[in-house]
Amino acid sequence: MTTKETRLIIDLKALAENYKTVKSQLKPETKIMGVVKAFAYGTDSEIIAHKLVDYGVDYLAVAYTEEGVRLRNSGIQTPILVFYPQIEELSNLIDYRLTPSVYSFNFLIGLNKHLNELETIDFPIHLKINTGLNRLGFDLDELDEIYEEIQTNKRVKLSGLFSHLAASGTASQVDFTKQQIEKFQIARQFFIHKFGETFVSHLCNSSGIFNYPEAEFDMVRAGIALYGYGNNEAENAQLIPVSNLKTVIAQLRTIQKGESVGYERMFKTEKEAKIATLPLGYTDGIARQFGNGKAEILVNGHKAPIVGNVCMDTLMVDVTGIDCQEGDDVTIFGKEHSAVSFDKFQQTIPYEIITRISQRVTRVIE
Ligand code: PLP
Repeated sequence: MTTKETRLIIDLKALAENYKTVKSQLKPETKIMGVVKAFAYGTDSEIIAHKLVDYGVDYLAVAYTEEGVRLRNSGIQTPILVFYPQIEELSNLIDYRLTPSVYSFNFLIGLNKHLNELETIDFPIHLKINTGLNRLGFDLDELDEIYEEIQTNKRVKLSGLFSHLAASGTASQVDFTKQQIEKFQIARQFFIHKFGETFVSHLCNSSGIFNYPEAEFDMVRAGIALYGYGNNEAENAQLIPVSNLKTVIAQLRTIQKGESVGYERMFKTEKEAKIATLPLGYTDGIARQFGNGKAEILVNGHKAPIVGNVCMDTLMVDVTGIDCQEGDDVTIFGKEHSAVSFDKFQQTIPYEIITRISQRVTRVIE
């Protein structure tokens, strides 16, 4: 048994289809920023970034500077936005032509100071406005002060203005989302008044693209949709999962009434049962929370629940009544059994499931 039998198949045809689906929602002139942070949502950021560039993506986004550096080193020339840059990384941001998201005075003032020392002017930044997510960004009552700081120093150039929606895929949050859009409009008008329409404005994430066409502005930031998921059934129905996590049955055994399976003996059978052991566990990204019947995998077209506690390198599934052999391929989740179907009780979201697949799982590109 080896973890090599466990592999994450990355379906590039599905990626291409999802890109087309995203594009089909937009006005022809609206730009697309492809979000490739977190190993491109658990896949392979370099391969995905190059594919997105081939499809014509206008911008890429990563979380950390280091992720952007890796993309540049792999030959990506497309503009890259870094969501969470650090001042200490300024030389890398400059050398690798990475655009920082500027979300606080601490960062903006520090940036101006460093650019002053380097005698750099017109350094492009995207300003992040907080419109209700209350995570990162300037509030609307800080706009005058931001403008002052930019104008006094004349070191940075406003090349983008953005904000992030908190619940764009949640039907009950339409009013709140509309308020976010209005707040973003206020910030946008403020800077247009000061600088003219010299910067790109972007607000929508994947669900925003599907549900708020009025908020397209100049560009959208597509993440999860590219990887085949949305935030509700209607969105999921239009998308194809890119990540297909597969493994094989390492061993099959029959257990009798009253016998248990796994650590802490959490699963006890009431009748004879057929148990399959699979060579992947919580190290590979299948969290313990999915043990004890909380998730189902696909074995020869049939759903089989994970039984007992998930182990570090293995997990067990109940395949009673399913025709299967040791060595058979099984699907943890993927195109024919989405992460939503895997997570039987909606304990988490596809974002978390697909980004958790650890780096020890071999990636196979198809
Ligand atoms: N924009 C920002 C600032 C984000 O943090 C993310 C993802 O978390 C995205 C866009 C992409 O969002 P989604 O994956 O919902 O499309």
